[in-house]
Amino acid sequence: MSGPSPNPRRPEGTYDVLPVPHGSQPEERLAGWLALESAVRSVCARYGYQEIRPPLFEHTSLFAKSTGEVTDIVEKEMFTVPSRGEGDSYTFRPEITPGAIRLLIENRLFQQKAFWKVWYWGPNFRYERPQKGRYRQFVQMGVEAVGSHDPLLDVETMAVYAEILRLVGVMKFDVRINTMGCPACRGGYREALRAFLEPHLASYCGNCRRRFERNVLRVLDCKVPEDARRNESAPAIADQVCAGCRAHFEAVQAGLRSVGLAFAVDKKIVRGLDYYTRTVYEFASPLLGAQNALVGGGRYDTLVASMGGPDVGAVGFAAGAERVLLAMRESGRPAAGLPPPDFFAVAADEAARGEIFLAAQTMRAAGLSGDLDYERRSVKAQMRAANKTGARYAVFIGAEELARRAVKIKRMEGGDEGVMSLDEAIRVIKGETR
Ligand SMILES: [Zn+2]
Ligand SMILES: [Zn+2]
Repeated sequence: MSGPSPNPRRPEGTYDVLPVPHGSQPEERLAGWLALESAVRSVCARYGYQEIRPPLFEHTSLFAKSTGEVTDIVEKEMFTVPSRGEGDSYTFRPEITPGAIRLLIENRLFQQKAFWKVWYWGPNFRYERPQKGRYRQFVQMGVEAVGSHDPLLDVETMAVYAEILRLVGVMKFDVRINTMGCPACRGGYREALRAFLEPHLASYCGNCRRRFERNVLRVLDCKVPEDARRNESAPAIADQVCAGCRAHFEAVQAGLRSVGLAFAVDKKIVRGLDYYTRTVYEFASPLLGAQNALVGGGRYDTLVASMGGPDVGAVGFAAGAERVLLAMRESGRPAAGLPPPDFFAVAADEAARGEIFLAAQTMRAAGLSGDLDYERRSVKAQMRAANKTGARYAVFIGAEELARRAVKIKRMEGGDEGVMSLDEAIRVIKGETR
């Protein structure tokens, strides 16, 4: 033996979710997760979105094709493992949209009906150097509405997200929208952008120079301050789209006005993923710092067909849950957490332990929640434990209760006590009598 082994530690770029307030980050607290997930679930259900659960990893080629070969994700952030002689390698999903679309196509869901609204929630992965606010495992939630070009659907997805935010107490957010045109009109814009960039290209960063050749729109995504400043005078795609794209964009704006969702047109928004067409949007929180994006979404009318599915319009969003949890905290509306348990069961001595275990089981079977002591502690220590759990009632069995086949219950707040049958006690705790 070579001395004690070091304590196990979680991998860099990950976090633990705890059942108690402990960590300094909101994503470390279970209560926030439960509140957010239940908000997502209930809003999606009300709008007619159905949950899907694709696997956590897919064939690497799925992401290489759809996410785009020139995006940062594919270039350097994928969590890829070799397959063992099964061909294509596997990649832990860096986003869920490609897997969601694959799921719809592969399971022939479009043969059942042409229009689907689905939502998802779950961990994503990217293998990059960990930095503040960027995790290697992070949770994304999102919706995809597939099978329609209706601009009102773009509006609906934004309304869904706004409602999720409001339900978790994030009332302040800015909505910015733009149009990226369609394959028919984007070519002309690419040329205009190249013409603008070409004279200054030598002073742009290496990423930009590479993107100029392979995916010139992504030059507009550059975060290098010098480049971003120069890009401000670049031609705007929204000014150059075709009549169809312009009409769509105007219908989206009219729809947003009709439902009272405030927004601004921001010609600088160009989503990094290659598959976006027409509408793109972002929600940002004024309460967060530099990393203030709360969601990114938009239309991707060419993606489904490019993956072998029908030629249909689609629109959706994906949001990083950790960012939303931070906005929830900054909004000053911390999640309430779980309701307190109904009871804590206390045994006076060893003789009562079997009976109190049975009583707890009976109460749970009756729909009550609660716990009991498994550390053979004194009655006093058990009562302290009852207090600590926040239980509404202590349920006690001692020699007297054993003899009478009864239990004593005590309301923790106020201290009312009474000896009664277990059935009666269950009714009292449920609030069905008195
Ligand atoms: Zn167009
Ligand atoms: Zn650059």
